[in-house]
Amino acid sequence: MKVQAYGAQASDKDLEPLTIERRELLSNDVKIKIIYCGVCHSDIHAKNNDWGNAKYPIVPGHEIIGRVEEVGAEVSKYKAGDLVGVGCMVDSCQECSQCNDDMEHFCENGSTSTYNSKDKHLGGHTFGGYSTHIVVREEFVLSVSEKLDTKAVAPLLCAGITTYSPLRHWNVKKGDKVGVVGLGGLGHMGIKFAHALGAETYMITTSPEKAQDAKRLGADGVIISKDDEDMKKHFVTFDFILNTIPVGHDLNPYLQLLKPDGTVCLVGAIEPLEPFHGGNLILRRKRIVGSLIGGIAETQEMLDFCAEHNITSDVEMIDINEINTAFERVQKNDVKYRFVIDMASLN
Ligand code: NAP
Ligand code: ZN
Repeated sequence: MKVQAYGAQASDKDLEPLTIERRELLSNDVKIKIIYCGVCHSDIHAKNNDWGNAKYPIVPGHEIIGRVEEVGAEVSKYKAGDLVGVGCMVDSCQECSQCNDDMEHFCENGSTSTYNSKDKHLGGHTFGGYSTHIVVREEFVLSVSEKLDTKAVAPLLCAGITTYSPLRHWNVKKGDKVGVVGLGGLGHMGIKFAHALGAETYMITTSPEKAQDAKRLGADGVIISKDDEDMKKHFVTFDFILNTIPVGHDLNPYLQLLKPDGTVCLVGAIEPLEPFHGGNLILRRKRIVGSLIGGIAETQEMLDFCAEHNITSDVEMIDINEINTAFERVQKNDVKYRFVIDMASLN
């Protein structure tokens, strides 16, 4: 079936209206009418071919909220009218040890990303949520609570799980001192989750003007990373630092903030980093780790946690024809704290 979408024909081209193909429903497929789609910095990296693997036309979008319009004959979890979400993946082999362990994002046969992945069914590549409809196998469809503000739930599907998963995996808890580096889409969710998990939470930011917002979001304190004196006050005091900086940078100042056995977790920069000093790890047995989104079961757990704790994203709504300006504004660090597209503007 043909559906309306917004995508780019090349890395140096703006996004524009286009028509894409979605598959006819297979027996375990769910057809979703998309209501909202968040704008992740990854959408911009992908469109700009920052990771060197972009396939054009590219239709980004992996923070999708919608209502089920139709289901295949064997679908049991969902029915027409249900409020659902789709995140960064739409398929995986469902057989390997990673899939069996609810780690579909590490599928040994390669998971299928919501956009820019090989499309197993139609050939070509997958198209994301900047469109009116999407067809997804039921295992990759998430159930969304009707209790929360739906438009503010969309960013949970990527920014939410990407920050929730490492905080849970490295067991952030009451009594821990936790830093979140970068107050953007991921960072503002990181602050909310670290606070909700009971940690003493610090925003570590390059932007002094964001300090008040950081506290409103749940930070107990704010550290300006460009201010050496401010950083020095916190040397060797942190248990865990979640680093969302989207580009290569110098990790050494953040490593120096960690206590013995402390951990810095990278989720942002999928590219070379500046060299770090071995002493910053060796002398106090510190760790640098990384984390990628989360599995489907954990994504559902995160959505349920948000419904229980009344956690959503802080969003700025846009129409689809404002998407190119939104991309520019994210790159200029001018978003509070996630753009979400009202997909009714594409009909
Ligand atoms: P974003 O909204 O643009 O936020 C990034 C924040 O990082 C900015 O608000 C800024 O915060 C800080 N920052 C930007 N440039 C910086 C620099 N040169 N040095 C220091 N700080 C800088 O981006 P996002 O959507 O949160 O995404 C962040 C990164 O995570 C992107 O690279 C994205 O592709 C990646 N990502 C990874 C995963 C995963 O699974 N691992 C999932 C989703 C996204 P301050 O003003 O507070 O300094
Ligand atoms: Zn994302």
